Amino acid sequence: MPNGTGVTADATNPVVSRTLNVANLTPQQRSGLACVLCGSSDQPMTAIAILDGVQIFTCTTHPANRPAWLTQPCPAWCVEKHHDSDDPEDRNHRSDTLITPLLTMDFINYGSPTEPQFGPLELMCDLVRHHLEAEPRINIGDTNDAFSSFLSLGEAEQFAWRLLALVHAARTSTIPTDPAPADQGHELA
Ligand SMILES: [Zn+2]
Ligand SMILES: [Zn+2]
Repeated sequence: MPNGTGVTADATNPVVSRTLNVANLTPQQRSGLACVLCGSSDQPMTAIAILDGVQIFTCTTHPANRPAWLTQPCPAWCVEKHHDSDDPEDRNHRSDTLITPLLTMDFINYGSPTEPQFGPLELMCDLVRHHLEAEPRINIGDTNDAFSSFLSLGEAEQFAWRLLALVHAARTSTIPTDPAPADQGHELA
């Protein structure tokens, strides 16, 4: 329940109780769109409290405001909002998702049988790194949930080069050569 300040009574986070004067927050900060400490809206964020029913956030780069499990700042590409309540297996840094619509394939009904909303199948890829993993992987999937694959950075690089080799062969009417034979993608110590 909101108390007189609008911050929920159980918001015991020291940032809220000691330093945050909610009367001074901007509309963006009050609506959860900007960090309540620095006003930034383009940093990875973590929720620190509920204000008038809306989660408010701070940048994870402010060390005191990270969830207790997040002992390092987020990588620059992370856009995930992390919470103390995240399950251990869900404690992932994630980038924005890059989307490629596939316009030559059957469109997907994203609505219901009675109210169909057809749109193109989309290939999606983003960076994912569990906070305890040494290196991110690239997750590739589609909007039909037909598959979801995780590629190491080396594997993603091989796959990207192979796609480009096929595109090049088609556009130049030449025979494709494999630019990245399988063994070369592995970094051998
Ligand atoms: Zn901030
Ligand atoms: Zn993160």
